[in-house]
Amino acid sequence: ACNPPLFTFDNTYARELDGMSVAWQPAASPAPGWLRLNRALAEELGLDANALDTEAGLAVLAGNTVPDGAQPVAQAYAGHQFGGFSPQLGDGRALLLGEVIDRQGQRRDIAFKGSGRTPFSRGGDGKAAIGPVLREYLISEAMQALGIPTTRTLAAVTTGETIYRERPLPGAILTRVAASHVRVGTFQFFAARRDTARVQRLADYVINRHDPDLAGQDGRCLALLQRVAERQASLVARWMGVGFIHGVMNTDNMTISGETIDYGPCAFMEAYDPATVFSSIDRRGRYAFGNQPGIAQWNLARLAETLLPLIDEDSDRAVTLATEALDRFPDQFDGHWLAVHRGKLGLKPLAGTDEQDRALINDYLELLHTHQVDFTLGFRRLSAVLRGQPQALQLLFGDGQPGLSAWLDRWQARLQAQGAAALDIPAQMDRTNPVYIPRNHLVENALDAATESRDLRLFDRLLSVITRPWDERPEDALCALPGTPEQTQGFRTF
Ligand code: AMP
Ligand code: MG
Ligand code: MG
Repeated sequence: ACNPPLFTFDNTYARELDGMSVAWQPAASPAPGWLRLNRALAEELGLDANALDTEAGLAVLAGNTVPDGAQPVAQAYAGHQFGGFSPQLGDGRALLLGEVIDRQGQRRDIAFKGSGRTPFSRGGDGKAAIGPVLREYLISEAMQALGIPTTRTLAAVTTGETIYRERPLPGAILTRVAASHVRVGTFQFFAARRDTARVQRLADYVINRHDPDLAGQDGRCLALLQRVAERQASLVARWMGVGFIHGVMNTDNMTISGETIDYGPCAFMEAYDPATVFSSIDRRGRYAFGNQPGIAQWNLARLAETLLPLIDEDSDRAVTLATEALDRFPDQFDGHWLAVHRGKLGLKPLAGTDEQDRALINDYLELLHTHQVDFTLGFRRLSAVLRGQPQALQLLFGDGQPGLSAWLDRWQARLQAQGAAALDIPAQMDRTNPVYIPRNHLVENALDAATESRDLRLFDRLLSVITRPWDERPEDALCALPGTPEQTQGFRTF
């Protein structure tokens, strides 16, 4: 009782938004064990990492002790899953413990995933297996290192319980940190029940949290829609810039904050192909790499629908205003996409070059596609060309040399037009195009070792590599390479 608390929780979501969540407790874990604690993130959150890294900390992170001040709730939400609407999803295996204020003064949710059944569990067991938990740890921390807005992972622990999927697996709990867990689907839950008052309260809540400059203003719900659209345009453009495929862009997996959430069936593309799909349940390719911007816009339209009664009393006018906002999305996205890809090619925006630059970028992507070149290496190795060493890039193109060399000439001519700034371009490109991404075969190997024998050496090694994605290190050379055909054949996520 003399020890300072592990967390200093606030609980605005539970307190201010009655009827939007259900008070609930985590299930007990029979024999908790540590997987990993993210000490750097603990510090960032203003927590005492040493105090967390104890039996007492483990008891909290395994759900056996609910810390003082926590008011755990399962959040209600609905969602369109693969296009079909489910009016009641909600936290079926997650719990929001509370909120902490981090060292930057930002409010961050602390939530469990895999902490047992809740009133929203439907047929599910409320549990998570060690593999998916460690996968979320790896990929979320890789995204953070790549500079892409994301939920974070504070900890992963085992529960000592066996859970059953296609086979028996060790159970685990992830502790997730998010700017908030409010999703498009949270708005849909109340809109589907025609509970306009709660939609308004939810809108005001997220405005206070994410867009406080809009608080109390007339027209704030339309402005919120515009902000969310802007954040998603930027986010998805960044995904596209690293070959990230979310895999399950259901409306319940799209945040209002603009953070990437729910690392279920996600994966990074290797050979460039916009039709790439890894998720075993995405049979029609709805969430293929190249479809992500269009899906984001579709999801935003679902958000807009929930806000219509709050945008204008005159429903025709509300529709007109919301439609105008949504119609801007393709241009917003294209603007971000152009900025991201200009960065990848070392191009500074010059007056009147937008169309030329788009063509240059698209022609390069088409070359990567035609010659099945690895997306990550196809960009990373461009900087060496500027340093007079084109061989490593050329190796990737096989019999595509003529096309590559014609394109390189155009690219270098465009760079020349930038003049003086050209000197540090290769260095800037190397801060934009990662060497290391979470390669699918490496992720699988790491998760298999952890699942089969609780051996985390590959996990630790990979985490260390992908959280330092920019600097090439000879000792990590193998981690930069795409999987061989044997390693990647039939790769599927679940
Ligand atoms: P997801 O596919 O992770 O976005 O989850 C979609 C919905 O299914 C959410 O309501 C989840 O809480 C729920 N869900 C997923 N897995 C489980 C599980 N093992 N037990 C209970 N609910 C689950
Ligand atoms: Mg989800
Ligand atoms: Mg999931």
